[in-house]
Order: sequence, then C-alpha cells, then structure tokens
Amino acid sequence: MSEYQTKNLMKKINYKNFPDKNGYFAEFGGKFVSETLMHPLNELLKSYNKIAKSTNFRNELKKELSQFVGRPTPIYHASRISKELGNCNIFLKREDLNHTGAHKINNAMGQAMLAKSMGKKRIIAETGAGQHGVATATACARYDLKCVIYMGSKDIQRQKINVYRMKLLGAEVISVDSGSKTLKDALNEALRDWVTNVDDTHYIIGSVAGPHPYPMIVRDFQSVIGHECKKQMKTLFNKKPNILVACVGGGSNAIGMFHPFLNEDVDMIGVEAAGLGLNTGKHAAPLNKGKPGILHGNRTYIMEDDNGQIESTHSISAGLDYPGVGPEHSWLKNNNRVKYVSVTDKEALKAFHYLTEKEGIIPALETAHALAYAFKIAKKLNKKNILINLSGRGDKDIDTVALLNRIQV
Ligand SMILES: *Cc1c(COP(=O)(O)O)cnc(C)c1O
Repeated sequence: MSEYQTKNLMKKINYKNFPDKNGYFAEFGGKFVSETLMHPLNELLKSYNKIAKSTNFRNELKKELSQFVGRPTPIYHASRISKELGNCNIFLKREDLNHTGAHKINNAMGQAMLAKSMGKKRIIAETGAGQHGVATATACARYDLKCVIYMGSKDIQRQKINVYRMKLLGAEVISVDSGSKTLKDALNEALRDWVTNVDDTHYIIGSVAGPHPYPMIVRDFQSVIGHECKKQMKTLFNKKPNILVACVGGGSNAIGMFHPFLNEDVDMIGVEAAGLGLNTGKHAAPLNKGKPGILHGNRTYIMEDDNGQIESTHSISAGLDYPGVGPEHSWLKNNNRVKYVSVTDKEALKAFHYLTEKEGIIPALETAHALAYAFKIAKKLNKKNILINLSGRGDKDIDTVALLNRIQV
C-alpha cells in the first residue's frame, strides 16, 4: 500500500446508504435548528425525495446542464506539467468551463428547479466570494424567480465585480454587518430570513453544509462531476484514476467528485486552506485543526475556541474561508476513507502561477490549493493517474493575485 492509501479496507461500508433517514453520517450531520425550521426542512426532504425519483425531473435537469451549463465538462490531460513533475499522469476535470465559471452552478440549477417544482417564488442564498451568489442569481434569471443574496460587508468590498454581476442578473444583494462580516455571518442571516419567509421562499445553500437534507441534496446535485469522471476516464483515456484530489471549503466540489468513487479502489485527498500556517491560528482547516461541534444546523468538525465561540478564519481564497465543513467529510475523515491535508496561501499562489504559465489555464485560488498538493505528490509517486477537480476559473481572483505580487516584489 502506498503512503497515500487512505481507504479503510477493514470496514465494508456502503457509502451510498448515507446519510441515514435522520440525516446522520454516523455521529455527524443531523438537524440542529429551531422548531420553526423543522417543518420546512421536512417539506423540503419530501419534495426532494419525490423529484429524485422522477424520470421527468432527471431528464429536464440533464437537458439544462447540457444546454445551459455546458456539461459534460471535459477532462484534460495536462501533459506538459505531468512530464515536468515526474512520471505521473495529471488529469484536470474542467469545472472551470461551466457557465459562470465554477461547479456552483450544478447545485444552483438543481435547487432552483426543485424550488420551482415546490411552487416557491422567492430564492435566498448566502455567498462568500460571490460565486454561489452569481450561480444562484443566474438560475433565478433563467427560471423567473425573485432572488435575494446575503453577503458579508467585508466580502462585498473584496468581490465588487461579482456583486455587480448579481445585480445585473436582477438579484438584490443584502450586506451583512454582523460578526466577522463574512460567509458564516451571511449564512446566519439567510437562515433568519428563511424562518420568517418560509411560505414562499426556498433557501439555496451553496455547499454541503447546513441541516439535513441540505448536505445530501447538494452532494447529489454535485455528484454529476464524479459520475462524468468515471465514464470519461474510461472512454477518453482508457484509464482508472488512482488518486482524486479536490480542495475543501464547505466541501461540495470535493464530495461531488469523490462520492461516486467511495466504494471503489481509489485514494482520495481533500485539501483545506492552511492560510498563514496551521500553527499560526490564521487558517481555515477545521478537519486538520478543529474539533466536532455544532455550526449552521449540523454536527461536524468546526473551529471554535475553549468557550465555544467560533474562531475567525483566514485564507487567501474567500471560497475556503469558512470555519466548518460538510458533515460527510467529517465522517469520511474519521473512517479514514479520505485523507485531509492542507496547503498554505503561499503554496497555493505558487501553484496558481505554475498552472497558468505551463498549461494556459488560470485556476481559482480555491482550486490552487488542490493543485499545490497534487503537484507535491506527483513528484514523489510513480506512474499514478492523478485526477484533480479544477473547481473554478481564476478571473475573480486576478485583483487579489496582482495585489499580493506587488507586495512581494
Ligand atoms: C466556492 C468554491 C469552492 C469551495 O467550495 P466547496 O463547497 O468546498 O466546493 C472551491 N472552488 C471554487 C472555484 C469555488 O467557487
């Protein structure tokens, strides 16, 4: 077994059977919400179970993903860097080529269609970097749904272009000034809105976080990534991947790629943001440095201090800057099925430039974390097929990168 062998061969778990009917992945997940949200969450679960079985819905979604989103996204064999880094084959699943530039649209489209089928007229969502906000605003324009996006005031400052994109698409962007003025505070506000407006409103959560059934719904809509990978690796390259690598913020692009492979002989690596370093306290790596607790309606690994206060996080990439993680990842960590590592701001920035210069692809800074770790192991391993989820494109990060480089010069 290699150093990166992460699957637990002793336990025979059928990963497709989780979460259980109460939304648990063993001790993680669940539904820790006020009484007022129990009913809407149960309604959501009922509606979702109905459409998940409906051939009509599935065909309609498939058509939308093909004609509107641009799926299937290709897999690209990055031959130039594969050669330069040693003798592994590096493959990139090109989620950056989706409409709106990242994997977020897979979930936003699915949930907007679900909301429509439930007769909802108004959509709310939270966003950090703005990618989920843009994806949701896009789906709402497509389906004629009213759209309200909650965003931390600090993120609004950092991501001006995405804020304007949302407004152009017809969304109302509400600035959240509480707490750290970032993603976790926007999520709190969105949950509050949902409690008051639940009759006509559906809340589209952007990652595999939140109370049950969200982690399951978002995972299922993102699993199109892994299903395509399985087919494409075979038909395009006649190979099987040996190692899957993806970055982990809330964990939706990672679980989307991993889930269809969980019962197969493939190693998997999730990469968290180590920020300025795991020992500096300035990072966003709850699976590496956090402990189990409750955040945003589910039990999972979180970053909290000894008084139970959520700690502030830091990452170069706004999309990874979150103190929690989807509960399924916490379970996969404790099962030893997926290995969770971390990459610093500096390493991610280096990988960002490397891919850009050597392959002509500008990745998102989130994605650059996955790339940095994959490049590191490609140098050490022999003849492995490494498949990386290229979760998004880097256009939104150009200002950040320019600023960092000027400071470093
Ligand atoms: C939002 C985002 C992420 C992080 O979210 P996950 O739910 O962990 O996937 C990663 N990459 C890109 C490009 C994103 O926009």
